[in-house]
Parts: sequence; C-alpha cells; structure tokens
Amino acid sequence: MACGVRTPMIVMASLPNAPVARDGLACRVPRFLDALDRTVFAHRNSPYRALLEHAGYDAARVRALVEQDGIEPALERLAAAGVYVTAEEYRGERELRRRGLTLRLTERAFANPDASGSDDPGDWSLTLEAYGLDRAPVSVWLPSPDATGRAAVVALATLRGRAPRWFTEQPGPTTPAGGGLRALVMRLTGRSNGHGNGSAAAHVAPDDASSVLDWIRGERGHAVGIVTTAARALALATAAQAAKRRLDGVTLMTSGAPLPPATLRAVQGLGGRAFSSCAMAGCGVVIDGCVRPVAADDGHVRMDRVALVGRRRPIDETGTEGTALLLTTLRANAAQVLVNTETGEAGTIRDRACGCLLGELGFTRHVQRRRRVTVADARESDVASDSETERTPLAA
Ligand SMILES: [Zn+2]
Repeated sequence: MACGVRTPMIVMASLPNAPVARDGLACRVPRFLDALDRTVFAHRNSPYRALLEHAGYDAARVRALVEQDGIEPALERLAAAGVYVTAEEYRGERELRRRGLTLRLTERAFANPDASGSDDPGDWSLTLEAYGLDRAPVSVWLPSPDATGRAAVVALATLRGRAPRWFTEQPGPTTPAGGGLRALVMRLTGRSNGHGNGSAAAHVAPDDASSVLDWIRGERGHAVGIVTTAARALALATAAQAAKRRLDGVTLMTSGAPLPPATLRAVQGLGGRAFSSCAMAGCGVVIDGCVRPVAADDGHVRMDRVALVGRRRPIDETGTEGTALLLTTLRANAAQVLVNTETGEAGTIRDRACGCLLGELGFTRHVQRRRRVTVADARESDVASDSETERTPLAA
C-alpha cells in the first residue's frame, strides 16, 4: 500500500529499514482488520471473539469502528465495553467474568493457531539502526535461557548471520533449552560463531558483570550494544565504577522492568547510554527506548506491530488507581493473539513528537513511568472509566 506520509530525508538516510516500518505504519489498519478476521473471528473458541460478541461487536461492526475512529480510539471504546483481558485472566489464574459471560481459560487459549511461531527479526534491525548500532557487535545478557532471551538471540542471529555473544546465568548449552537453541541458531546461520558452539552462551554468575566488562574491553573501544535488564545495567555500571572503567561507546538496551532514573544516571555518568525497551515472547519488541526521553523509561510503542491503550483500574494493594497497559497485536502471524490484553504493567501513555529518528518515522505514541501492577482487578463491572490517554498536538 502506498504511504501518504512523507518521511524526512535524515530518517531515510539513517534507518535503512525505515521503509519496512513505514509500510507497517501505513498498512496497520488493513493489517489489523485482516488479523482480527483470521485469528479471532475465524475461530469459534477464540476468547476475544466471545468477548467481542458479548459486547455486541461482530466483524463488520468492529471494521466500521476501526475505519471510522482509528485503531487506538476503537480499542479504547472496546475496552470500555468490557473487551479486554486482565493479566490474571490471561494466565488462567482467574475466570474471565463480564456481566453475563464467564470463560475458563488457560494461556494456550491465546496462542495463534495460524502462527509460524517465529519473530520477525526486522524489528531488531530498526532498533539497532535507531541507536547507531547496525554495524556494532551486540551481545545478550539475560538471566536464563527463557523465551525472551531465546527470542533475542534467535532474532540477532537471523539478522547478523551469526549467533551473538550470550551471557546467561544458567549453563545454557547443557540444558535442553540451550541445546535446542544451539541447534536452532546453527540451522538459521548455517555455522558456528567462533566461540566453539552455536549458541555463543557464556555462563556467568548472577550480577557478575566482570565477563561482560571483559567482552566490552575486547571490542577495544568500538561501539557495542548489550540487550539486558535494568538490574544488570546497574550491576554493570557498579562493576565498571569499582574497576575504574568507563562505558564510552556502550549502549544498553534494557528489557523487562523499566529503567530507574538512578540506573540511567549511573550509566550516563560513565559515558554509556541506556534505553528502556520492552520485548515480549510471542510478539517481539513492543517498546523501543526513546533517544530524547522525558523520563528514564520513555519509549516508543512499536505501532507497526502493536497498539497500546490504557484502562483505569486499581494497581496496588492500597487501591491506588492507575492506567493498566493493554496490548494488541496487529499482525496475523504473531505467536500470541493479544487484543486489549494487559501487559501486567501500568504507565503513562502520551502521543507526542520527540524529534528522535523513531518519532520522525511515525512512532508517535510514547509510554513512560511504567510500574508493575501488583493486584488482580476484582471488580465485576462491565464498563471501565475513560482511558487516561493524553493527546498533545504533534509538531507540524
Ligand atoms: Zn523518541
């Protein structure tokens, strides 16, 4: 589909993958409607189909709503009509109850019956380009060979044609998960990586950053990227400080819990950079940290792949209300089908022009000040209060 949005030259020059993402942005409405038809309405047992029909929405009515209002306003309206899934309902820890509808589900109910099960590695290429790391060595430092770590390793291996250096706190290559990953990486890349095995996994003790510091030193001052977590970013900064080493040229891409301001300051104080992203097993990178953040964890919603809206609900034991983040996958090939499904976090959603490459490309929805939701939503109401989404005018 032709794109009606002009992309600035600087963006096109800096992001070789910009046309792919721009195509994803331009085509998001028809792709979303196609995904809904194929992954929701085509399946009698889809929990989303049950929720939508219970709220009075068949495929034609959803189509009309999305085409008239746009994806995010339509999703907010659907959430207000009871079309959402809480984190507890998604994990099968709680029955899904709306007035007159009760569903007993397990996480398997949300798997995409049509998915190939693989993540699109293109999303990582755009992320790396946005941070100027498209030619830089990138390693993965995640706690265990879990689904998120595996997805990151596989995506980077596919992108680069060789497995990335992978620091894991469990002995990956000897576990069934690590062994399976090694075979997968070997198959994807057709070769080993020079570290003696296909998965490049190095076993490190929890919070032991010395192996990672050694790897950085081995790259002799060239720019490097590390996919890790906020806790490990702090461990790295602390270890670097203790060893009187700087982090110039080091870019940390944290996933999972948001990046605390103190951790960002610690990394920046040593000359490094850190961006708070979020990758989820089954849908890949959903948030890319902003290069011009207004908060330590300010990030761009990857609107070419997902939509993010909010829903007010109690988020902690004291009854504090917050905006729970609801994620929707826009592609028919996502491994998990998500429609207004809670991520397990609350946060602030803002549409704004930040001026960074990702913003200029068209990723105008930001999310920041994320925090974990620690209580189940016990309310029985069908209708939630209005979303707290704030819209500020975008610069021309
Ligand atoms: Zn930005």
